[in-house]
Amino acid sequence: MIYFDAAATRAVLPEVMETCKPYFKDSYGNPSALYDMGLDARRAVEQSRRTIANILNCSPNEIFFTSGGTESDNWALNGRGVYCSSIEHHAVLNHINNGIIPCNSQGIVSLNYLKSCLSFATKETKYKPIVSIMYANNEIGVIEPIEDAAEIAHHFGCKFHTDAVQYFGHGEIDLSYIDYMSVSGHKIGAMKGIGFLYAKDGLIASMIKGGEQEKGHRAGTENVPAIVSLAVASDIMYKNLESNNIKLRNLQSYLYTNISENFPMAHLNGTDNWDERLPNILSFRFDGYQGEVLQSFLNDFGIAVGTGSACNSGNGKPSHVLKSIGLSDEECNSTIRFSYTENNTLDEIDTLINVLKQAITILR
Ligand code: PLP
Repeated sequence: MIYFDAAATRAVLPEVMETCKPYFKDSYGNPSALYDMGLDARRAVEQSRRTIANILNCSPNEIFFTSGGTESDNWALNGRGVYCSSIEHHAVLNHINNGIIPCNSQGIVSLNYLKSCLSFATKETKYKPIVSIMYANNEIGVIEPIEDAAEIAHHFGCKFHTDAVQYFGHGEIDLSYIDYMSVSGHKIGAMKGIGFLYAKDGLIASMIKGGEQEKGHRAGTENVPAIVSLAVASDIMYKNLESNNIKLRNLQSYLYTNISENFPMAHLNGTDNWDERLPNILSFRFDGYQGEVLQSFLNDFGIAVGTGSACNSGNGKPSHVLKSIGLSDEECNSTIRFSYTENNTLDEIDTLINVLKQAITILR
């Protein structure tokens, strides 16, 4: 299979798999147990926390392991009044009880709208909502102006959360202006079902009640191999950040050029300012074609691509992200998302383009 759906998930990195193995097989103790096998597991959990804290230049006490991006988003926003952008993942969007901040046609959130909403919402009340703006979007790959959004939130006395599920591993992160941040493991080559929530100064109410795991903030026996996988994958992604991004930018410009030159009916979704885009996601609409039909044609030739967000596909509704940037239902449904890792190759892109050419001719 030629895999161009890395924003949905990716394979566990081989080094990650090797490092995790002992925690399935030998050091499988419960980290709360006080004999050697338990203590080994506890050490692995705490070392993993330190590894991630080192990458982010924060305290290990500010990192809480969760089951992934969805839980981290839920935890940060649970029970609060929330303002978020219109292009958030549903894990954030489904919390909305205050307001949705629109985006422009490039996919960039309107900071002026955010400002006026917060100015109104915080005027005569001590009650402060939380603002949640994603670091980068999973469907169109646009990076949001989160430093400016956080500054506005703080100006009005609000906390700021960012869903960094798609950004983490692709760029340096400055936590000085972030109060809460969500990360997921399976987007960076760790196992599925693991992630973390960063909470500044460790200040977050507990959500899952039970035992005293995660300092009493998130009960339940820790998933030790998954936690180790998250730390090792994070470490590898950040050690290789520069070289990976060079490879990804190269793949991106090759794919973009080839699609633009070969398919006049194809249009890029989201900004064409490359500084405001992730290096690993390109979303195109193919006017006059159905994304799902193209996807199925490519699948028959052993090529996997997305049609918008994996979480949305199957429900038949046009993507809320694509609608938000002003696309018609027809344009939304003509969209394909190409996302890739540093391990994809230019040859694979050549194959993709050749099969797409056939699809475009046959399905005309
Ligand atoms: N947030 C974003 C931006 C995502 O892309 C995803 C997954 O696609 C999630 C949250 C959910 O993460 P998880 O699959 O770890 O629950």
